[in-house]
Amino acid sequence: METPVIAQGTLLNYVGGRWTAAAARETLPVRNPATGETIAAAPLSSAKDVGAAVAAASAAFTSWRRVPPGDRIQPLFRLKTLLDAHVADLARVITLECGKTLGESEGELKRGFENVEVATGIPSLMMGAGLEDIASGIDELMIRQPVGVVGVITPFNFPGMIPLWFMPYAVACGNTVVLKPSEKTPTTMARVMQLIEEAGFPPGVVNLVHGGRDAVDALVDHPDVRAISFVGSTPVARHVYARAAANGKRAQCQGGAKNPIVVLPDADMDMTTRIAADSSFGCAGQRCLASSVVITVAEAADLFTGRIGEAAASRKVGYGLEAGVEMGPVISADSKDRIERLIAKGVAGGAKAIVDGRGARVSGYEQGHFIGPTILADVDPESEIAHTEIFGPVLSVMRASSVEEAIAIVNRAAYGNMACLFTSSGAAARQFRYEARVGNVGINVGVAAPMAYFPFSGWKDSFFGDLHAQGRDAVDFYTEKKVVVERWPATWSRKF
Ligand code: NAD
Repeated sequence: METPVIAQGTLLNYVGGRWTAAAARETLPVRNPATGETIAAAPLSSAKDVGAAVAAASAAFTSWRRVPPGDRIQPLFRLKTLLDAHVADLARVITLECGKTLGESEGELKRGFENVEVATGIPSLMMGAGLEDIASGIDELMIRQPVGVVGVITPFNFPGMIPLWFMPYAVACGNTVVLKPSEKTPTTMARVMQLIEEAGFPPGVVNLVHGGRDAVDALVDHPDVRAISFVGSTPVARHVYARAAANGKRAQCQGGAKNPIVVLPDADMDMTTRIAADSSFGCAGQRCLASSVVITVAEAADLFTGRIGEAAASRKVGYGLEAGVEMGPVISADSKDRIERLIAKGVAGGAKAIVDGRGARVSGYEQGHFIGPTILADVDPESEIAHTEIFGPVLSVMRASSVEEAIAIVNRAAYGNMACLFTSSGAAARQFRYEARVGNVGINVGVAAPMAYFPFSGWKDSFFGDLHAQGRDAVDFYTEKKVVVERWPATWSRKF
């Protein structure tokens, strides 16, 4: 692949409206996880590379913040049209570097594009508030102003969608952006950046810097970066949040997850099984909203466990580009090893692997990092496997005797991204919604992913910060509030 985004096999950064080689010479290979083929090399940009991008973003900010909001959203309308026109091509790029099926790749893109749509509402969303006569003849206004340069740091598993949780709102609010995508899946954003360029944003408004931890730390430390939006694993989210705070900047950092589904005996078991299997094994379990634990209540254990075993065993694993494939590989050999070790640990700790996906082979793709869907039954709620984020196609099934006990297990967990309940009881559903200490709740829904106009609300160790991604939270995060108190006595100005 030799396109403007790549030179001699190495991806280029996009800085100040130009595709430029990183000054750093070190690179990492970007590999197709299904075939093992090398797609490109990602430069591990240095603090100097990040500094160049921040300088371009700072220079662009001076004029971009003065562009009227109604004009700032015009490139977003063009971007939306371009993204729609290129969805198939972008989905292919995601499948090649991330491994998910084409349907999953297209699905994530469409959820990302919704944010571009919502951000075009900025002239209304960004309005302030005002009140006349807070005291006699004195008025008070609250206006919102952009914060400045925003750093956006994203993970490997949704390379198309997650950058779009942030970038559209940030620029619509008048900020400029330096985006650092995952070094494992960087080509998707390289391609999207070409469309961003074509949409006509002025140079420097959106910049792309490839790299890993050094680039992240340089962005978080740079004094001209005023806000950080981060998504990734909990240890890195915690690190980025603490470092951004120590540097006096605002940060929203979304972390890892271990999402439980509670199944009551009165649930529609066929529907529950189908939805739970999609939630657990979709995207090979590499979704922050994947369910990785099912807590069966009372006789739901027998009704559910056999069915989910059949659903897991019949799922077709293969290369995501091929028709009929329902689940692709995990991202890397390291990831496969880690997941297989965790399955072994679960089994050694007493869990029963009623479906065991270790050692999966896909004919023709012997270099691929495939793991079949795996079901661990009778998992002890206190065991390590019950608490560790596996981030692979592994579902742990455990038992509780009542909905109260199940909710207590949900609430003891360190993570709080999502919890779901399957039932036909409205009262149980209300109790669950009310008591579950998580940010996203699904009732008879297995992936409770908020639409773009709602916040993506992880809690506890799944999120560090207060304002979340998407919608009005994004507008609050990317703007400073300024209050103006005004008195204009007629004696000062009336000349007629
Ligand atoms: P990761 O934490 O390894 O990487 C995320 C980003 O941080 C990448 O851009 C990476 O370059 C950078 N990074 C990695 N290590 C770093 C370090 N030591 N110092 C500074 N920066 C570092 O995450 P990943 O493996 O790419 O993604 C999977 C994780 O992301 C899972 O834990 C998953 O649950 C989580 N995730 C969360 C959400 C959410 O909304 N809460 C969404 C998607 C993924």
